[in-house]
Amino acid sequence: MSLEGKVALVTGSTSGIGLAIARAFAVQGCSVMLNGLGEAAALQKLRDELEKEMGVDVGFHGADMTKPDEIADLVATTQKTLGSLDILVNNAGIQHVARAENFPPEKWDAIIAVNLSASFHTIRAALPAMKQKGWGRIINISSTHGLVASTHKIAYVAAKHGLIGLTKVMGIECADTGVTCNAICPGFVSTPLALAQIETKAKADNIGMEQAGRLLIGEKQPQVQFTRVEQIAGLALFLASDTASNMQGTALVSDGGWTAQ
Ligand code: NAD
Repeated sequence: MSLEGKVALVTGSTSGIGLAIARAFAVQGCSVMLNGLGEAAALQKLRDELEKEMGVDVGFHGADMTKPDEIADLVATTQKTLGSLDILVNNAGIQHVARAENFPPEKWDAIIAVNLSASFHTIRAALPAMKQKGWGRIINISSTHGLVASTHKIAYVAAKHGLIGLTKVMGIECADTGVTCNAICPGFVSTPLALAQIETKAKADNIGMEQAGRLLIGEKQPQVQFTRVEQIAGLALFLASDTASNMQGTALVSDGGWTAQ
């Protein structure tokens, strides 16, 4: 498929799944606006490398996804500097693991802000131009935790379930506009976000990272394998393609059988 002439904004694309999605779009000739946290020099290097390697325009905007004003500026800057915003990938996400009664309220607020409210703010800002153009793709990175729960993840599970609800509303509101809105629900993916949880288990059980990873994934997934970031990027490409133009408000799952049980 070719995405030549299109512009994608991928939130949280300085690492993990977001970076893989940004790369996959750039490979198809799509200009990309990167966003996320990180050290300035490293981010500039990443941007330069992608631009050189892929031969497309690559921008970077450091909007903090907990801040609606900065999110509005991220969308406006994408439209202004790259010419439009055709594909919006709401990917930025954070995690915190604790029992509900011990869960710090500031962690709750941050997780709801980054993992849920940020998608409302980006969509609100980006949708009018997509509708006017008669083409657009909104792809929300939810999780198996948007479909089922686990203990100790009250904010993450609430936010990811909320994101599925938001996706359904947008899917039906976008009907017959040329814009689609769908979600992707990964199980365990080998990124810093998941590795932090494996590290905690390895320390708690005094075992190696590999064994801790197998145990953690095995608790949930019959197929005890990480989904690779490239596989999630492939699903994002599929949702951006014409093949998916009649899909609205769906949640695509890649979770080694976790939610099939
Ligand atoms: P990651 O930690 O590698 O990447 C997270 C990205 O979000 C980074 O670029 C980070 O800088 C950015 N980010 C965090 N807080 C931000 C903020 N306030 N403002 C701007 N950017 C911010 O994690 P990942 O695993 O690649 O996660 C990407 C998405 O996939 C998340 O929404 C996550 O919930 C979801 N997900 C991950 C897994 C998994 O197992 N890794 C499974 C299901 C869903």
